[in-house]
Amino acid sequence: MIFKIARQNLNLCRFCGICRDVVSCPTKLFTEDCIGCGACYLACPYRAIEMVPHKRKKLIKIWIDREIFFVPEKITVSDALRFAGFHVPVPCGVGGCFSCAVRIDSEMRPACVTGVVEGMQIDTKTKSEPVRMVSGFSPHIVGGVGTPYVLKNYKRPVEVACFLHGCNYRCPQCQNHVMAFTGGVAMTPETVAEILNQMKVVYRVERIAFSGGECTLNREFLIETIKCLKRMDNDVRIHVDTNGSLLTSDYIDELVNTGMTDIGIDLKALSLNTFTRITAVSEGAERYLKTTWNAVKYILENHDIFIGIGIPYNRDLISKEEIRAMGRRLAQMGADVQVCVLDYRPAFRRRDLSPPTVAEMVEVRDILRGCGLTTVIAQTRQELKNCPGYTSPW
Ligand code: SF4
Ligand code: SF4
Repeated sequence: MIFKIARQNLNLCRFCGICRDVVSCPTKLFTEDCIGCGACYLACPYRAIEMVPHKRKKLIKIWIDREIFFVPEKITVSDALRFAGFHVPVPCGVGGCFSCAVRIDSEMRPACVTGVVEGMQIDTKTKSEPVRMVSGFSPHIVGGVGTPYVLKNYKRPVEVACFLHGCNYRCPQCQNHVMAFTGGVAMTPETVAEILNQMKVVYRVERIAFSGGECTLNREFLIETIKCLKRMDNDVRIHVDTNGSLLTSDYIDELVNTGMTDIGIDLKALSLNTFTRITAVSEGAERYLKTTWNAVKYILENHDIFIGIGIPYNRDLISKEEIRAMGRRLAQMGADVQVCVLDYRPAFRRRDLSPPTVAEMVEVRDILRGCGLTTVIAQTRQELKNCPGYTSPW
């Protein structure tokens, strides 16, 4: 196995402080103690951190499921598990989603950002309550992709939302990059549900939204949190805003059976080339793209819940021809599905992008309407027909 270490490139660094103040480096940033977790590398908006190969000479003794293993020192628990022949999926790699959490010396910790130490006891078998890093609890006036257009009143909150950290995509223009690419202290489903339920009462709304990051990572956590919310109020509407890449039919069925009433799915592209350009995903990109489109079809054919679709637009990322092809495919699945064109603005590692003009967004909306879709809105920076931030679908 090749192990790596983080190196800061001061020629590219803009001293934004994200690696120092926001990333929870498990050691000391950019020192010989680096365990190569890559959390700082993923979070840096200016590509000023490189991961370079680094030899680990010394072996240390650890226990995995009560068996002794010798693994290189100064590596992550996930690398140590892989080195010892265990399979560990690490979808976010920043300690945000806790999908890779294992019991380490009696405490559930994310394997991706925890370093191995001599004598460590790792237990991969004992199940514990799922946990996850969650932040950004807030009322939303506009809502998300999965919020029905008719509810957007622009005067008072339509739902309360929270953001689940960690993402399986690496979008260079991510608008929520702090949530997507940072981890931290985990919360239990019960705590998250308590906060959301109280906010729902304070803001007098009936809807609770999960966003991210990618909120469908760590399936057990999301399902358990929805169950807690339903126990507190059986009539609550649950809105899941997702990239759809993990939504197999059994996962969708479980979400709906647990209480999900509304879903927003971002269809990033139709072609694999565009998809990888937008998401920067290398491994598993084809599967993610296919799963997302299949999820939309499956929901439209099998579930009576509200579904909204997000389609990105920026002339540097996706062509109008591809948007038209996406519109045609969607219209075949369900002409009245709500579609929101999202204006991809300069952000994170793509501050060089030009934001789409209002005229472009209206043109893209009309292309989709021309495909037979009846409810298309476009997110814009300007008020149009008394709808701040959105064009009317009619
Ligand atoms: S996150 Fe990147 S640009 Fe910001 S201070 Fe760290 S290395 Fe520099
Ligand atoms: S965050 Fe991870 S990769 Fe970056 S310096 Fe710390 S240990 Fe190394």
